[in-house]
Amino acid sequence: MKTAITGGAGFIGSHLVEHLLAAGDEVAVLDNLSTGRLENLKGVIGHRNFHFIEGTILDRDAVDKVVAGADRVFHLAAAVGVNLIVDHPLESLRTNIHGTEVVLDSVLESGASLLLASTSEIYGKNASDSLSEEADRILGSALKSRWTYAAAKGIDEAFAHAYWRQFGLPVAIVRLFNTVGPRQTGRYGMVVPRLVRQALAGEPLTVYGDGHQTRCFSYVGDIVPAIVRISEEPLAYGNAYNLGGSYEISILTLAERIVELLGSESVITLVPYEQAYSEGYEDMRRRVPDNSKSFELVGFDPKTTLDEIIRNVAADYKPAKVLDPAGWKITLAS
Ligand code: UDP
Repeated sequence: MKTAITGGAGFIGSHLVEHLLAAGDEVAVLDNLSTGRLENLKGVIGHRNFHFIEGTILDRDAVDKVVAGADRVFHLAAAVGVNLIVDHPLESLRTNIHGTEVVLDSVLESGASLLLASTSEIYGKNASDSLSEEADRILGSALKSRWTYAAAKGIDEAFAHAYWRQFGLPVAIVRLFNTVGPRQTGRYGMVVPRLVRQALAGEPLTVYGDGHQTRCFSYVGDIVPAIVRISEEPLAYGNAYNLGGSYEISILTLAERIVELLGSESVITLVPYEQAYSEGYEDMRRRVPDNSKSFELVGFDPKTTLDEIIRNVAADYKPAKVLDPAGWKITLAS
């Protein structure tokens, strides 16, 4: 099978590439290396079935090139991460709306099937016990840039659904809930790699707000096989599927668990939101998935525990290399 992946140098994308190559696929990746990194692909660069194109999904020629000859396409390329979205709302809107339209058009013309990666962000501030795919979306002001990501991804889903209804494009949608694991960077938000890095460096763990907001974290190693199975299931076309963790935890408890598990000496500090983020940020108090639809379709039943997730993220952590300004020596940043 020939597979194309947009955003294949990103955190989830690179795990997907490895999974598909191991399954015998020929895999072509398009990535503009904005938040993705070649470092993520170092285990597959040089593999005879792996091809890489550097380029943006805003460029139709680049998209056509990677999609050419593919049986299926995974569209993961997006502007992601709360920090990035809040600080660069225009880039987020353009990439996430126009870029997806370019991919949809290209895939439609090519005859391949498509898997669109969407997000639990689209549910916004809906804090219900268990968010089903039909749940209402409760978004804050359109002038708050936090919500531009949710709005753009909602439009992406609506586009995909319309292409399915009007043109019969075989497209399935997955909504990912706080996926974490090795290679995820905390640079653009993402609380688990941030807190793990802080704990390992002996720095204070920065818990924002009162720390009682909750999330359900899921492990990339559970999510990637589920994404692939959904892409292979014709019943999924025209539908959206939640993929999230089943264990709800507050960010404060998460921080305490990270400190304890890693034997860190770090303290935990509560940081007011106004200090943590620039203008345009608003948090969700809670976000809990109902996974029953993906369980019914492909048996999605994530098994990796939060402790295992934290240990795996910590094991992967490498301090960034920086050049010593005084000379040629390479030193390690804490
Ligand atoms: N968060 C935190 N400290 C950090 C980074 C994030 O307390 O250093 C909080 C953030 O405000 C949010 C939660 O952790 O309440 C999850 O944030 P993330 O950006 O990982 O994901 P999302 O908000 O998209 O669920």
